[in-house]
Amino acid sequence: MAKGHIIPLVNLARLLFFHRKNITVTIFTTQENSAFIRQSLSDTKPSVVDLTLPKFTHPDILQGIESVDKLPSFSPFFAFANQTKLLQPEFERVLESLHPDVNCIISDAFFPWSLESASKLNIPRYEFNPASNLTLTIFDILSNQNFPVDSNDELFSLAPKFPNIQLTKNDLEPEMTDPQPGEATDFLSDMFSASSKPDNIISNSFCGLESEFEDYLNSRENSPPKVRSVGPLCLAAAPKVANSDEHKKKPTWIQWLDEMLDDEKPVLYVAFGSLAEITIEQFRELAIGLEDSGGNFLWVLRLPPGDEFIGEFEEKIKGRGLLVKNQWVDQLEILRHDSVNGFMSHCGWNSVLESICESVPLLGFPIATNQYWNARMVEEHYGIGVKVVTRNGAVRGF
Ligand code: UDP
Repeated sequence: MAKGHIIPLVNLARLLFFHRKNITVTIFTTQENSAFIRQSLSDTKPSVVDLTLPKFTHPDILQGIESVDKLPSFSPFFAFANQTKLLQPEFERVLESLHPDVNCIISDAFFPWSLESASKLNIPRYEFNPASNLTLTIFDILSNQNFPVDSNDELFSLAPKFPNIQLTKNDLEPEMTDPQPGEATDFLSDMFSASSKPDNIISNSFCGLESEFEDYLNSRENSPPKVRSVGPLCLAAAPKVANSDEHKKKPTWIQWLDEMLDDEKPVLYVAFGSLAEITIEQFRELAIGLEDSGGNFLWVLRLPPGDEFIGEFEEKIKGRGLLVKNQWVDQLEILRHDSVNGFMSHCGWNSVLESICESVPLLGFPIATNQYWNARMVEEHYGIGVKVVTRNGAVRGF
């Protein structure tokens, strides 16, 4: 999976490791993600199994790709997700070698095939939902009713039970509003079918935020699985280890934030998660906006290199703006920094939870999938931020 799924699952492993001493956790992953997982869990010395992906059989997927964040774009995502089934034989072979010590599988919702592996060993599979309980609720309600509106920007209430939760078709992906047979529908139908089996769903959410959706999901007819919210799992992230030579070891962006603190200059942190790569045109539009705002900002972004505008922009904003390009940062460390007092985010669920836990208000800039309704919730229901754009874009060029 991509980091947005791996990080909360790894945090769940840390929780189990520290709070359930009688449980041993073994993590199955691919070689591509293994180093990141081992590093995130270095204080727990986990047992990690690196599975090897056999050759893909789908023509659209480049051989050798082992993680969603290495896909060239979002379009082959569903084909790739379906191809993860190729891991099943090796996964089962290793599981069987560990059996009877294995008595439970917790696996990401995107690996529905692991349900079959669990039933072969006659053990439960708990599905891990890295998204909100609202996301599960939206999928549940919309898959059981005709779509209530035709136009893209007309608001509709999600259900009579939730009169205040209003969405538009624009908030949803085309696969949800107008499903066509293909990789996406195959994947979603496998996932929903596995989700409807009677074991628990473990959600990265918490009752104080989403109890109405958890209650809804747990009171459905036909005894569907129980949803247990165990989040926000970012609270279980590994603490930073203090070291004596602290300043030297700090990444340049943290040193820069320290300097802004000395000058009492609050900083807007701008970042769009682990996957979204913006185009040069999008970069230019946002850059103009940030420059015109007159405020200070730290912008962590993935973008293709080699545009002279980037260099010019960096010159212009020197002293009040910093770009961190194509590098992995510790987002929690940034959000925790005293200089940071706002977060312009794509509203990926982890980023929303992290901003709540660190009390940093959000500017919602959704780009895809559940980020649109997360951004709506941020503004309209949680009251912890404002939404900057809609899918049709209040920002030129998007
Ligand atoms: N993240 C990080 N450093 C980066 C990019 C992302 O630590 O350079 C983390 C971020 O803190 C969050 C996760 O990656 O935990 C991204 O998840 P989210 O749901 O916000 O967005 P996604 O990447 O899934 O779109």
